[in-house]
Amino acid sequence: MRKPFKFYFTLFTCKVMRLGMRMLGKNAAHLPGKLAVKMCPKFISYMEKPKYTVCVTGTNGKTTVTNLIVDMLESQGLKVTNNKLGSNMKEGVSSALIANSTLSGKAKNEWAVLEVDERSSMYIYPLLKPDYVICTNLYRDSILRNGSPEYIQSIVTNYMQPETKLILNADDLISGNIKPENERIYYGIRRMPTDTEKCENIVNDCQICPKCAATLDYKYVRYHQIGKAVCPSCGFTSPKPDYDAEVHMEFNTMTIWERGVEQKYNLINNSIFNIYNQLTITALLRETGFTPDEIRKGLASLKLPEYRFTQFDEGGIHFVDMMAKEHNPIACSVVFDYVSKEPGKKEIMFLLDDETPTESMCWIYDADYEKLNSPLINHIVIPGSRALDQKLRLLMAGVPEEKIIIGMEDLEAPSHITLEGTDTIFLLHQHWKPEMDKLVVAKFREILKNRNK
Ligand SMILES: [Zn+2]
Repeated sequence: MRKPFKFYFTLFTCKVMRLGMRMLGKNAAHLPGKLAVKMCPKFISYMEKPKYTVCVTGTNGKTTVTNLIVDMLESQGLKVTNNKLGSNMKEGVSSALIANSTLSGKAKNEWAVLEVDERSSMYIYPLLKPDYVICTNLYRDSILRNGSPEYIQSIVTNYMQPETKLILNADDLISGNIKPENERIYYGIRRMPTDTEKCENIVNDCQICPKCAATLDYKYVRYHQIGKAVCPSCGFTSPKPDYDAEVHMEFNTMTIWERGVEQKYNLINNSIFNIYNQLTITALLRETGFTPDEIRKGLASLKLPEYRFTQFDEGGIHFVDMMAKEHNPIACSVVFDYVSKEPGKKEIMFLLDDETPTESMCWIYDADYEKLNSPLINHIVIPGSRALDQKLRLLMAGVPEEKIIIGMEDLEAPSHITLEGTDTIFLLHQHWKPEMDKLVVAKFREILKNRNK
């Protein structure tokens, strides 16, 4: 492709900008890309593609999956272009490409693994033309911005390029139907003992057949629309997985039948969303030629991103800090379900409230707060200015009023947790308060350390 002078000039300017920012100790993962797309709107299309270009999208799990793939590849000694430090929009993707290219726009690394916001599909896929796009799932999320998951599915489908191979979740009929004419492979998890006959969540966004609009018949439901469904009218059904997994929680392992051949892997984490994440990256790595042994070795070295899941034991109490994305009722419901199923007496602290007084809280009525109405949960401590919204929702879920403690600042909240008779403390934090989360975790560490002194 003949590249215009404008492209070379833009690349040079943005590289100089990046160098300058880095000399000043600044994170150059956004502004160089922002300038690049402003100066040359088709900038991404002129950059030479690495040998493997993988984009990861989907409502939940895309950051974790991106980070885990990058870590896995790096553990095999490979260098990977990625936007871990930047945004998942065109500016972050462009910045990552600028940082890992020569002055003529040649890719320095064989791999690029890029997280892509679903709504940024239109600005990225037509220009980048990735080799693989992974879509983890599509759920109701940030409803005021995203509308419905079908709307997001139509955006991703409309901008997907014909040469891209899709890696999709067979257990999700919404994301599983992205761009049906493209080559694709599916991964899925066989029926689990905890699956149910009917959806027990408030939200199931896939109740009617996408082909003929008859009511779908679910053979089993894992959570929300995740499960196996058949249309009794036209026979439309969940696709057959190419990577067909069976989870053995008691042994902490997962067997994956890969086109009939069986492989066993240790689980990196026992929460269902992390098992899906692990299955997703295994499917990608097998598709790109890694051996099961290389994957097992890579998995053994993996650590879940600390900000999303941290745990430690101190003062005789187990402490877990988990991200529960606000405005994302499915992510919160899965976290609430995990917390409710963990054994022992529990105390919970929310760091979930929105600080903007005008922010809509409608999402809390789509999330399964009912899971937190459990005799094993002793108290739920809620700091911040939106604590009353949260309290109302918990009361509606049947949580007794005496269990709900509100009316304090974020940093004061840990001292309102009851330590006596508690096995585990869960801190559930929203994703945009990393600094406060760190401070609160440190406060808990201090309290638990001093407990028996
Ligand atoms: Zn049908």
